[in-house]
Amino acid sequence: MPASAPLPPSLYADTARPPAMTPPLDGDKRASVCVIGAGFTGLSAALHLAQQGTDVIVLERNEPGWGASGRNGGQVNPGLKWDPDTVEKDFGPDLGRRMVAMSWDAPNVVFNLIAQHQITCEASQSGTMRAVFQQNNVAEIESAFEQGVRRGMPVELLDKAAMRQKIGAERYLCALLDNRGGHVNPLGYARGMAQAAQQLGVTVHGGSPAEKVWREGTSWKVQTPTGTVTADRLVIGTNGYTDDLWPKLRKSVVPVYSGIAASEPIPEEIAREIMPHRASIYELGKVTTYYRLDKSNRILMGGRSRQSPISAPGDVQWMVDYAQRLWPQIKPFKWTHGWNGQLAITPDHYPHIHEPAPGVLVCVAYNGRGVAMATAMGPQLAKRTLGGSQAEIDMPITDLKEIPFHALWKTAVAARVLYGRVRDYLHI
Ligand SMILES: Cc1cc2nc3c(=O)[nH]c(=O)nc-3n(C[C@H](O)[C@H](O)[C@H](O)COP(=O)(O)OP(=O)(O)OC[C@H]3O[C@@H](n4cnc5c(N)ncnc54)[C@H](O)[C@@H]3O)c2cc1C
Repeated sequence: MPASAPLPPSLYADTARPPAMTPPLDGDKRASVCVIGAGFTGLSAALHLAQQGTDVIVLERNEPGWGASGRNGGQVNPGLKWDPDTVEKDFGPDLGRRMVAMSWDAPNVVFNLIAQHQITCEASQSGTMRAVFQQNNVAEIESAFEQGVRRGMPVELLDKAAMRQKIGAERYLCALLDNRGGHVNPLGYARGMAQAAQQLGVTVHGGSPAEKVWREGTSWKVQTPTGTVTADRLVIGTNGYTDDLWPKLRKSVVPVYSGIAASEPIPEEIAREIMPHRASIYELGKVTTYYRLDKSNRILMGGRSRQSPISAPGDVQWMVDYAQRLWPQIKPFKWTHGWNGQLAITPDHYPHIHEPAPGVLVCVAYNGRGVAMATAMGPQLAKRTLGGSQAEIDMPITDLKEIPFHALWKTAVAARVLYGRVRDYLHI
């Protein structure tokens, strides 16, 4: 992996607020906690640690938000991959219930943090819709709605007529609307979070890859090309960009590319026709397609991507075609950006927290839901780092294990994406 890389081209690189100053580490420094990776996981952990008076140094290979956090769909979605009943069945009535409460409330953590630190990032708490276009998925949405109602969640079940009105297209049979969701400009959010952390006393170093970590007495030492950090504790949040810094970690997750195409701003009257509600939408299907309108009326369509870097809308032409099939009236408008990035998935589709050594906390793999979840994990990681017991953390802390036959997984994921597309196309 190269020492560090410039921010790849994307809509957000052109529109987000400017970055905070984050010069590389210079010499040998000391802090109570060293955080490795400045995406939402690392930044939120650092910010919540600093809020409690802890001195923190963040080391980022490139710049804050360079990874998935600065390139994603910007959808602030509540919940985990599995529905609440399944989570409670998998983890029992105590931990399961806390996981559900924390994960489904995660968007409120995002929007509260944005309000508290006055982060300029086009934030809009306009809801998230989980939309269904295949009859065999309708029961799943109805069940999710019933589970949400039973827990007092702010959810609505939208039928075909309501979806036609909210999306301006005939495609959907129904959807679950959760009013806690919404969207942000994610690079603006990451940069704003870095600045908020700095204002609380966190030192953030960009261009500072952690190349080696070792124990020295009761401390941890982290080496970068330009210095070292000595810290009592480490937090690692490197997600889909995890390298071989910590043994076994890279092979405990599968990095997968997702891609996005963005249009030029469309006229307000057409925006009102196609998405008057302005919620974030993701489809329930074998391969997730997700989309939204941003504050300037650009359409952002996300989903399947080549499993290597891309840089133009033509590289994700299928998403442009898909949008034009949904709303033929947008055909005259240009598509200006196309990009992608890597997220981390796990075979069980749960986020993974590990403590592979004393004082070391790892949190990775939000399985495509990290905008809200990685932010909400920040306070949890801070609590555990500052001595909270495992039982106080609203996620299981598990052993770090490599995925067997890891090398085959990338191929399997690519095949799965193709298979899923075919199945969705055939409606089976
Ligand atoms: C195209 C795309 C669309 C997505 N859409 C959505 C969406 O709409 N909604 C949603 O909830 N989620 C979405 N996701 C997922 C979401 O973006 C991620 O789950 C989330 O950003 C993960 O945050 P993170 O901080 O854990 O990781 P990242 O943001 O990937 O940050 C990891 C950081 O670690 C740094 N790093 C790695 N190794 C080292 C090292 N050795 N030393 C120092 N630094 C290092 C990297 O440079 C990187 O900046 C999407 C992801 C992608 C790629």
